[in-house]
Amino acid sequence: MFNRKDYVSDKDWSRFLEFSKDLETPNIVINLNKVKKNFLTLKDSFPYARIFYAIKANPGEPVLELLSDLGSNFDIASRYELDLISKFNVSPDRLSYGNTIKKAKDIKYFYDKGVRMFATDSRDDLKNIAEFAPGSKIYVRILVENSATADWPLSRKFGCHPDMAYDLIVMARDLGLVPYGISFHVGSQQRDIGQWNDAIAKAKYLFNSLEEEESIKLSMINMGGGFPASYIDPTNDLSVYASEISRYLHDDFGDEIPQIILEPGRSLVGDSGILTSEVILTSRKNNTALARWVYLDSGKFNGLIETLDESIKYPVITSQDAPEKKEGEVIIAGPTCDSMDIMYENAKYKLPVSLKAGDKVYWLSTGAYTSTYASVAFNGFPPIKTYFM
Ligand SMILES: *Cc1c(COP(=O)(O)O)cnc(C)c1O
Repeated sequence: MFNRKDYVSDKDWSRFLEFSKDLETPNIVINLNKVKKNFLTLKDSFPYARIFYAIKANPGEPVLELLSDLGSNFDIASRYELDLISKFNVSPDRLSYGNTIKKAKDIKYFYDKGVRMFATDSRDDLKNIAEFAPGSKIYVRILVENSATADWPLSRKFGCHPDMAYDLIVMARDLGLVPYGISFHVGSQQRDIGQWNDAIAKAKYLFNSLEEEESIKLSMINMGGGFPASYIDPTNDLSVYASEISRYLHDDFGDEIPQIILEPGRSLVGDSGILTSEVILTSRKNNTALARWVYLDSGKFNGLIETLDESIKYPVITSQDAPEKKEGEVIIAGPTCDSMDIMYENAKYKLPVSLKAGDKVYWLSTGAYTSTYASVAFNGFPPIKTYFM
């Protein structure tokens, strides 16, 4: 159904097969070269931006060490992520506390570790930051509507209306904090580049009105993540994202573009991963059923949670794939005793009719939101193991 070469080169594929041949399934193998390449490509595409990797996408220590060595900054969402990144010699000026939902004592924890840049989207959080992280830089996250065109939307829960963002920036100044900028996230795996245009225009409006009415000069826009990994639904190349977004910035800000921060997660690590699962069983629910059920040793609870609502559609190939092999429709499900543990039913995947227990099923582009975005041991199945090559 899928051409592996559209996602993984011959060279990377043979390296992967050699590396993974004796590993027990299910497992995830991350190709660190690919992460490095994705980071350098993003950096080249946005030479004027500072990159803050969103750790949650893949918190594997080799990934963090690599990105730290490459000079990346980090977007941190919890004290646990802060402790994790502290192992890699990253100075606190390369960190931002980007979660708008935080306990007062965690704000203090970050402050005590030297972090001086905080996101917010509410009054109470801002008051806590003023009290426990005095004098810090503040950026306010604005709401953007993105549910229609992002495969994994991040709307509603985060951000505030621009009018409220205005008030929060003024309040930040009055509380002795440094009003630094505006942030947004247009939704993860955002396929409509125009979403950045709308969000940048909102930021521009806030820059202007705050300067005119309050003499507050903001200096930064944090454009979040949302850049794509390679799944089934096609997206533009990163170069198109970069040239369009740069054009929007110039259209709105002329030659005086503010400091730009990007917070990529998915686009840096997504393509670097291959999740290998094994077929436990195939079956039909009645003698004449056309679709087969294929049950795997990996599912929604150990690696494939982004198949919720069949949102992210990964390319899937198998050890039975061959050009002449006949394929038939399948419903793909995981190993647990929960009927929610079905990855694809409506998407109508097709797999070789010869597929049988013991065969391997490879999930490509599974480097992001797989290894830790999972249950701990539901039904006793342990968390999926990640290996780095
Ligand atoms: C998850 C997250 C990101 C990463 O988004 P991607 O779409 O994976 O690039 C960036 N910023 C914030 C605040 C996030 O919560």
